[in-house]
Amino acid sequence: MEPVGSNLCEHCTAVCCHYVALPIDHPDTPRDFEDIRWYLMHENITVFVEDGDWYIQFATRCRSLEADNRCSLYKTRPHICREYKAGDCDYEDGGHDYEHLFTRPEHIEAYTEKWQKERRARRQRSKKRTARRAPAPAS
Ligand code: SF4
Ligand code: SF4
Repeated sequence: MEPVGSNLCEHCTAVCCHYVALPIDHPDTPRDFEDIRWYLMHENITVFVEDGDWYIQFATRCRSLEADNRCSLYKTRPHICREYKAGDCDYEDGGHDYEHLFTRPEHIEAYTEKWQKERRARRQRSKKRTARRAPAPAS
C-alpha cells in the first residue's frame, strides 16, 4: 500500500493487502494438474497464469491492515509491500491481465482434458515423423 498521501490509495479498499500470490511450477504431467485440482478444492484459493507463469493465490486479509484500509506497520512494512507501487497496481489496472484463471476444481479439469488431447496429438505427430525417418527394412 502506498503512502497515505497517495490519491490512488485514498480511493482504494487496499486491494493489494487482501491476498498472497506465489509462483508455482508450470504443470507438465497429469499428476501436476491433479495437485492444482487439489489446491482448488480449498476455499479462498485461486490459480492463475500471467505472462506464461503459474501462480497460486490465497485470498486473505493482511493482519496489519487497519479498519480504515491503512497499513498499521507502514514504516516497517515488508519489502514486497515497498516495491508495490500505486499507478502500476491491481486498483489502477482494474485487476490482473490473466491468460487463465481457475477458481474451481472443474475449471482445471476442463483445462487438463484439453491439455491431454493436445499432448496425445503431439505424440502421434512425433511418432509419425519418427516412422517416416526410420530406414526401410532390408529385403
Ligand atoms: S491496490 Fe494500488 S491503489 Fe490500492 S492500496 Fe494497493 S497500491 Fe494503493
Ligand atoms: S504490511 Fe501493510 S502494506 Fe503490506 S500487505 Fe500488510 S497492510 Fe498492506
